[in-house]
Amino acid sequence: MGKILNFILIGLLLLSPTLYPSHPTQSTQKVVIIGSGVGALTSALYLQRAGINTLVLEGPNPGGAIAQSPNVHNWPGEIEIHGQNLIDKIRAQAIHNGAQIVSKEAISVDFSSRPFSISVRDVYDPSKTETISAAACIIAMGSNPKLLGIPGESGDKGYWTKGVYSCAVCDGSLYKGKTVAVIGGGDSAIIEADYLSKIAKKVYLVLRSDQFRTVEIARKNELLKKSNVEVLYNTQIREIAGNGTKVTHLNLSTQNQLDVDGVFVAIGATPNTNLFTSQLAMDSGGYIKLSNDQQTSIPGVFAIGDIVDPYYKQAICAAGDGAKAALQVERFLSIGPTLPQSPPAKVINNRAAIREISKPDDLYNAIGKGTLLVEFYSPYCGPCKQFYPSLQQASTQYGDQITFLQVDVTKFSELASSYNVFGVPTVMIFDKQGKMITKGSGLKEAEKILTDLEKYTSK
Ligand code: NDP
Repeated sequence: MGKILNFILIGLLLLSPTLYPSHPTQSTQKVVIIGSGVGALTSALYLQRAGINTLVLEGPNPGGAIAQSPNVHNWPGEIEIHGQNLIDKIRAQAIHNGAQIVSKEAISVDFSSRPFSISVRDVYDPSKTETISAAACIIAMGSNPKLLGIPGESGDKGYWTKGVYSCAVCDGSLYKGKTVAVIGGGDSAIIEADYLSKIAKKVYLVLRSDQFRTVEIARKNELLKKSNVEVLYNTQIREIAGNGTKVTHLNLSTQNQLDVDGVFVAIGATPNTNLFTSQLAMDSGGYIKLSNDQQTSIPGVFAIGDIVDPYYKQAICAAGDGAKAALQVERFLSIGPTLPQSPPAKVINNRAAIREISKPDDLYNAIGKGTLLVEFYSPYCGPCKQFYPSLQQASTQYGDQITFLQVDVTKFSELASSYNVFGVPTVMIFDKQGKMITKGSGLKEAEKILTDLEKYTSK
């Protein structure tokens, strides 16, 4: 009897979906592009126009680094364009030509045999995984911003996303009329400082050396003429200090204290190559090595943009790489041109289902009138764009029990400040009595609130 019970128990354990999750689904693609910046989308465009169906894994930062640039001046054909608008145009062009762009990220790859195997997970629901087979692959994962690695920056006691950021265009509007510091003296720091100088009362540009390291000299010179911008040369940051809730000052190597409300770190980036270290040849800086134009050490795997480029790091270079890789893929697959077969994917860009406030009273008047969910967002914030489909879905499900409001922090920065919003997206729920019962900042915390929405409906 005991044995029979054991068998039944073991059988139940083996069948239990929680202990033994079902096998991830499998699909086959001709070409998979990992990444969604300028280079990735250019490859997708070229491949689709050559009749080769292409899947783009958009990943957690749709549009890549240029989406964070508020004003691009060196893209041919555009006097000045917001990086996000530039990406939106190229993305729309790739979709128009049939590219399929999905909110998934690669979590592992196996390039040891063909077809290649790429394991992916859903950006919004990491429990949803899938393995994709691909005849060819283009890696376009760019780079990750470097951090200073000093006390107060990140970790449990750090202010990361609560006063310390790497993207002014995403979070800068929270610092209207305030004092901020930008750390670094390269082109990225100049762009961040320029953007912030139009919002903040004062911008300190803190350089560890006595000189800038910029390509865009004209932009730097214009910035330095601004009355609210001050450069601190030969200055290192020892600590980012605060009151536990927000940043208050920086402790400097010069023994001085610099009072600031926010810090934007722009000290360069490292190539995002962790997934490939055991599979592809790399150089000593961690960049993927190329042998023949965009060809990596494995035939059929190509790499483009900042992940292969320690020197130029320009969007236009990534686009050039993207075009070259697509032509190489075409040759590699030896396929003649046919018309794209997949229908254009839809771009979700409609915020209408959820009400957006047009004045602060829209928010004040909604508080205490029933359960209320408020999302503070910025139009150029990648994670906010990623969060939006989940929010839209939640509003469809709970719209009759919860009011959904959105606050654009670029228009209502003081309102955001008054609710201690230090990063976007930030989601808050107010109960029927008007008391804030939960608050979460960043994509993860915001998503968590949505998964728990059911329990707030009765509050
Ligand atoms: P860069 O590597 O060019 O510059 C990094 C800056 O951060 C330098 O001033 C460096 O100082 C400083 N720095 C590095 N580490 C630290 C540290 N630990 N503490 C303090 N300061 C530090 O990086 P960017 O991200 O600015 O640019 C990367 C590439 O992208 C460049 O090739 C750039 O030209 C390009 N780019 C081009 C743009 C354009 O519009 N054309 C826009 C943005 C980027 P130090 O000089 O002392 O080493």
